[in-house]
Amino acid sequence: MPAIWDLPDFDSHEAVHVFDDLATGLRAVIAVHSTHLGPAAGGTRFWHYGDSQAAITDALRLSRGMSYKNAMAGLSAGGGKAVILANAARTKKQDMLDAFARAVDSLGGKYITAQDVGMSEADMVSLSKVTSHVAGLPEQGGDPGPYTARGVYLGVQAAAKHAFGTDSMSGVHVAIQGVGSVGGGLARYLAAQGAKLTLADVDAQRAADLAAELGGNSVAADAIMTVDADIFSPCALGAIVTQASVNALKVRAIAGGANNQLATGSEDRMLADRGILYAPDYVINAGGIINVLRQIENADDAEINRRIDAIPGRLSAIWSESDSTGLTPAEVADNMAQKLIGR
Ligand code: NAD
Repeated sequence: MPAIWDLPDFDSHEAVHVFDDLATGLRAVIAVHSTHLGPAAGGTRFWHYGDSQAAITDALRLSRGMSYKNAMAGLSAGGGKAVILANAARTKKQDMLDAFARAVDSLGGKYITAQDVGMSEADMVSLSKVTSHVAGLPEQGGDPGPYTARGVYLGVQAAAKHAFGTDSMSGVHVAIQGVGSVGGGLARYLAAQGAKLTLADVDAQRAADLAAELGGNSVAADAIMTVDADIFSPCALGAIVTQASVNALKVRAIAGGANNQLATGSEDRMLADRGILYAPDYVINAGGIINVLRQIENADDAEINRRIDAIPGRLSAIWSESDSTGLTPAEVADNMAQKLIGR
């Protein structure tokens, strides 16, 4: 097994903390990618990994992603991420959560945690009883989904403007994959502006009900990426943009809220070669983290809205630079983020 510095995803992390609490069985990793712009902020994931190497790799990837996302959202926060290694049944015990909260606390505010996959709102409240370094608690704005949805909606609008030169969403056909918190919110914004919707969800009834309510269509989950539409909006899983799916797409833009949309990170070039505009995921989906960090940023509702309103302008700047340099939008965004975090 290579040393941690030699892992492909290490990317000069400032620190990678590994915790092993004998009394409770807690095993956790807290990866701090960068504190250049402020305390490293990012969620805690509670997940069962095939092996400990996979957990470290996940923490490193997610932590670097948070550095880029927070920097591009204009936040005074660096990037970090925690993973708690769960057993196969993902049994969560209070003493384990307390031990994790002490681990977060031991970093003295260098890492600020928030909710991620496998952690509930109640879990976050319980962490906050042990450490003050927790963001996005219910009394601090709660569910980030609606904020993310609004930013994604503004990003979809910007994509329509850049790809088709239209200022209006009326009649623009958007295919949305996943109609949960983000995709469902996006669908409502789009319907209110007269967009044509095709919706899909693994919960087929959920997609059908929303389509009926908003006057759109629904298709099977495995058909959404081949719908003949203007814009494809992934709002479910990551890694859905693959070589095969790029070849099958019948849209002119991808703009959606899912994290880590590019399966290997290099599909952006294939999209560019096919003339499909891509909205870098961590730029368009930053609305949630903008709200989650409101406390540490000391931002009120007006400031939160102003920052979310800045998302389409940032995307347009990325696309313009991509048009003039020949770099893909993902490459331009990564370059911008790296500059912001002093790399
Ligand atoms: P959610 O759980 O509320 O909704 C996800 C929906 O996708 C569910 O309805 C689920 O049934 C559906 N789904 C799952 N697999 C699918 C598939 N293969 N095909 C079609 N539908 C599928 O989650 P969410 O909060 O809306 O998040 C959606 C995506 O956005 C995730 O990738 C998440 O990481 C990302 N994201 C969310 C936020 C946020 O604030 N909630 C912020 C940034 C990024």
